Amino acid sequence: MFAALAAWLRQRRVPFQENAAIGPHLVLGIGGAVRLLIRPRDAGQRLVVLRHLAGGGERPYLVIGGGSNIAFPDGLVQAAVLLAQGGKTPPAPLLFADEGAVEVDAGMRNQPFLAWCAASGAGGFEFLSGIPGTLGGAAAVNAGAFGRSMSDVLLAADIVDGQGRQRRVNAAHFGFRYRDSSFKLGCEALLTLRLRHDPGSGEAIAARTREYLEYRVTRHPSYRLASAGCFFKNPQVGGAKISAGKIIEESGLKNTTLGALAVAAEHANFLLNRGGGTFADLQRLEEKIRAAVAARTGIVLEREVIYVSPDGKKY
Ligand SMILES: Cc1cc2nc3c(=O)[nH]c(=O)nc-3n(C[C@H](O)[C@H](O)[C@H](O)COP(=O)(O)OP(=O)(O)OC[C@H]3O[C@@H](n4cnc5c(N)ncnc54)[C@H](O)[C@@H]3O)c2cc1C
Repeated sequence: MFAALAAWLRQRRVPFQENAAIGPHLVLGIGGAVRLLIRPRDAGQRLVVLRHLAGGGERPYLVIGGGSNIAFPDGLVQAAVLLAQGGKTPPAPLLFADEGAVEVDAGMRNQPFLAWCAASGAGGFEFLSGIPGTLGGAAAVNAGAFGRSMSDVLLAADIVDGQGRQRRVNAAHFGFRYRDSSFKLGCEALLTLRLRHDPGSGEAIAARTREYLEYRVTRHPSYRLASAGCFFKNPQVGGAKISAGKIIEESGLKNTTLGALAVAAEHANFLLNRGGGTFADLQRLEEKIRAAVAARTGIVLEREVIYVSPDGKKY
């Protein structure tokens, strides 16, 4: 099944590797290998490959963006993984000033997008400042910060659906929830996003982008350390969201280590991979935290970070 796909990719000169290490492509750095790792050269090639993958029936595949919210198991995952990243020269976003909208390639990374926003006077996306990854990944997980998230700005998207058809969907198709959408665990792929922008001065946008980044840099673990951001969702208690980091800290778990993994000293909802961390250890640490928090508070924490099964399913 993968041999035929490899031959198809080779014929079309799509860059790919067989039995490729996946850890180096993930910010947390946890994962063994994947059967095929596909790295399309540009958005056009990405579309052709996605249509082929989705139209091909039962062959397992999944799409990742910046790999900043996902961990893979330690062994070989029997799936084709497509890296949906903008590449060296991602297509520039398009500004539709009259319509208050921006269209952007889903593989574009958040930080270059914010630089473009400041240069173009497209405000409203500064909450993405300091969130690693791509806009497609951000939309799939409904990423957010500072009281805003992708569901507040997303108007529509061009996608490849589960049957390999390219089509435009509106925001309702995402079924947005807190840090979740139908794309998070689904197999549909995002190609282009249409986002609502608030016109603003470039200087004000750049200043807010810097301010948000500074807030993070002073309160979160260093960006040089491997993490996946907040590991657990903030639980809803008595109608209000409470900080998972605070509960983990109050349960006395800051600085807890397990193998090469550690609960960060700066923010207890960040689990750090200090080098060579395994998926098995990550799962053990997750359970240890969940059990300690449940015993102390009765709250069962829900994982925000995505896991992949050995047969290539996200969960
Ligand atoms: C230091 C740090 C800080 C963080 N801070 C925040 C924060 O403040 N708020 C927050 O919400 N998150 C935060 N995160 C988590 C993460 O960065 C975000 O969730 C990010 O938006 C994920 O984007 P990504 O491209 O890396 O997605 P990935 O991890 O690559 O993928 C995440 C999901 O999106 C899907 N996906 C990716 N691209 C596509 C596509 N083109 N089409 C369809 N599906 C796709 C994947 O299949 C997967 O289900 C942080 C992470 C780190 C490491």
